[in-house]
Amino acid sequence: MSESAEILSPARRGPKSLFSGRRPLPAHITVYLFVIVPFLALVAAVPVAWGWGLTWLDVALAVGWYVVTCLGATVGYHRYFTHGSFKAHRPLRLGLAVAGSLAVQGPILHWVADHRRHHAFADKEGDPHSPWLFGTSPAALVRGFWHAHLGWILDRNLTNQERFAPDLLADRDMRVMHKLFGPLTIVTLIAPAVMGGLISWSWLGALTAFFWAGLVRVTLLHHVTWSVNSVCHMIGERPFATRDKATNFWPLAVLSMGEAWHNLHHADPTQARHGVRRGEVDISARVIWLFEKFGWAYDAKWPDPERLGRIARFTTVP
Ligand SMILES: [Zn+2]
Ligand SMILES: [Zn+2]
Repeated sequence: MSESAEILSPARRGPKSLFSGRRPLPAHITVYLFVIVPFLALVAAVPVAWGWGLTWLDVALAVGWYVVTCLGATVGYHRYFTHGSFKAHRPLRLGLAVAGSLAVQGPILHWVADHRRHHAFADKEGDPHSPWLFGTSPAALVRGFWHAHLGWILDRNLTNQERFAPDLLADRDMRVMHKLFGPLTIVTLIAPAVMGGLISWSWLGALTAFFWAGLVRVTLLHHVTWSVNSVCHMIGERPFATRDKATNFWPLAVLSMGEAWHNLHHADPTQARHGVRRGEVDISARVIWLFEKFGWAYDAKWPDPERLGRIARFTTVP
């Protein structure tokens, strides 16, 4: 076996290997439950609940929880913990880890290690969620889309944290946050129900808030984040030079809070701002800018026009 094939093998163990073990069976069954069951329940329940079981309070709670948890994933897990695109004082660092965990996309050490491996091997063998690993025939692309969107999460091999996230592994705060993922998952589903019940002072209010601001909100954010992995490596514009197939896909810009400007992100992963061209709305970048203004964050890596000119595929950045 060649050295690279050996490093890519799930069976290989060591500091340079990609994997560090397999997910235990109970945890693996839980992943299935959280990924597939809520989605199927939603497909069945949304048409039933629509029209009688959705109040303005549910909408407000769902939007509020979506914004906080989406920013936890985009500003926290992604731009800060994975790529270090800015520095944060400890209260903000802890707050971002909590908000990211509330998005129910996995414990922080798994998320960061998987995502750094994605950038290290983008669209090549070793990338945990490239849609391009099975070929370019229509059938291979359908299989690739499914794998990049959701199928990869069901792979039991765990990315090697010692290789891909040694900085977080060395931080006691982050090891604690990693362990709090289970309790925070319960909080993110139950707290909206408690809020809905208390504000409306009714059991029905608690139930509909649980459904819309809990289940529907978590599932919508799951699919928006997963679309960055699937759609934003297949469909869209590629204005900047990358060695992979990452794209900018504008229809997802607002819902993904700027993460859909994924082509620029792969061209220059440590930038705090991904939507760099005129009109490219990037809510996460604006939030990082606010954190800097409040003095909670510092040293953000903002785009430099000269550098953007160098990585643009065209001679001028429009
Ligand atoms: Zn990507
Ligand atoms: Zn990234």
